[in-house]
Amino acid sequence: MKTVIIGGGVIGLSLAYELATRGHQVVLLEKQKFGRKASWAGAGMLSPTNRSTAIHPLEHLEALSHQVHAEWSKRLESETGINNGFRKCGGLYMARTAGEVAALAGLKSEWRERQIEFQDLELVEIKNRFRPFSMCRSGSTIAQASWVPGQAQFSTPDHIRALIAACHELGVSMHEELGDVEIVRANHTVEAVKAGTQDFTGDIYVLAAGPWTEQLVEGWEFSLPMQPVRGQIALYKINLEDGSDGQSIASGPIVNEGSRYLVPRTDGHVLAGATIEEVGFDCRPTENEVKGLRKWAESVSEELNESTFVKSWAGLRPGTYDGFPYMGRLEGASNAFVSTGHFKGGLHLSTGAAVVMADLFEGKKCEVDIKLFSPSRVLDHQSIDNK
Ligand SMILES: Cc1cc2nc3c(=O)[nH]c(=O)nc-3n(C[C@H](O)[C@H](O)[C@H](O)COP(=O)(O)OP(=O)(O)OC[C@H]3O[C@@H](n4cnc5c(N)ncnc54)[C@H](O)[C@@H]3O)c2cc1C
Repeated sequence: MKTVIIGGGVIGLSLAYELATRGHQVVLLEKQKFGRKASWAGAGMLSPTNRSTAIHPLEHLEALSHQVHAEWSKRLESETGINNGFRKCGGLYMARTAGEVAALAGLKSEWRERQIEFQDLELVEIKNRFRPFSMCRSGSTIAQASWVPGQAQFSTPDHIRALIAACHELGVSMHEELGDVEIVRANHTVEAVKAGTQDFTGDIYVLAAGPWTEQLVEGWEFSLPMQPVRGQIALYKINLEDGSDGQSIASGPIVNEGSRYLVPRTDGHVLAGATIEEVGFDCRPTENEVKGLRKWAESVSEELNESTFVKSWAGLRPGTYDGFPYMGRLEGASNAFVSTGHFKGGLHLSTGAAVVMADLFEGKKCEVDIKLFSPSRVLDHQSIDNK
């Protein structure tokens, strides 16, 4: 089976890697540079999961993805020599305001229901266990906190580099900087993808162009409504030689407060994220939002106050109208599929999505029931809107 994938972000790259590993021929087409959009911008946090209690298909997809991340990280390192930094670092969840306390209570009831391990922390415990955080040291501003040992992370650029190298190694036909491509359709079948003077053909075609996927089906009988949602991140570098006494946040857990987080890397980099903004396709970082992120980050850790602010960036999360991804066959062509719309969790869900989509193409029973993610649901939604 020969598959042509349009879009070389983490979703397209992971699918290419999975299909090529299974021995299929793959062509991967990218408008700009592989993996340089949201997939490069993301923080690489993996939420804790529990496969045995998963009920909703999204919980199943998360749990499958979590397991596959652990396997792929080892496999990718042995195939490419690139360590993507996958590690279960745990997560500290803190609440300072009444709103954050309510949100944390919601999270805790979900963790309880899904039997995801967590512990409530007394303020004194926070001070003892997480000394590098200035607000933990003073303790006074924290209303509630929980420790979640299952939260994990990987370094996004390293993961993308590893996927690209592995795809090359496995013989994926990779084409980047193609500019705009055109999908040629006749009799409800995709016949080719045109990029300039080149035609790419295959047995099946997969649209995985993130928030730009909607544009790929412009003029088809239906639309795939997408909502780009900008996220900004500020990056710090801590000098690990600087007498931190082994008490640097760089070796600590992910710190979560409301929608904000600090993600420490073992090399001393710390990511402070992220904003959630609906501003169309503008993916430039802005001074005000970065200032806000830095103010928050430096209120959590004095160490950041004293370390180097390196840079900021922004990316566009691919959102859908109902919060679920689009995964499955497209109505408008018998040989076309879509995998996109993984929104805030695309890095996490990329491995499971690749396995499930590859199973679908091979006619195997999918480990996750993806009926709920079918892009056909848009047709029902659009016909309701038209009534
Ligand atoms: C600040 C921020 C933090 C995040 N943190 C996390 C996190 O901690 N954990 C997590 O799981 N997720 C996180 N995410 C979300 C995650 O990054 C995305 O869900 C994921 O990267 C989406 O991947 P994608 O491949 O669908 O899209 P993209 O990475 O956007 O890739 C789509 C690709 O398609 C290409 N393309 C577009 N149009 C065409 C065309 N016509 N032809 C060919 N190619 C085309 C684009 O150039 C792009 O390379 C974060 C996102 C942001 C912005």
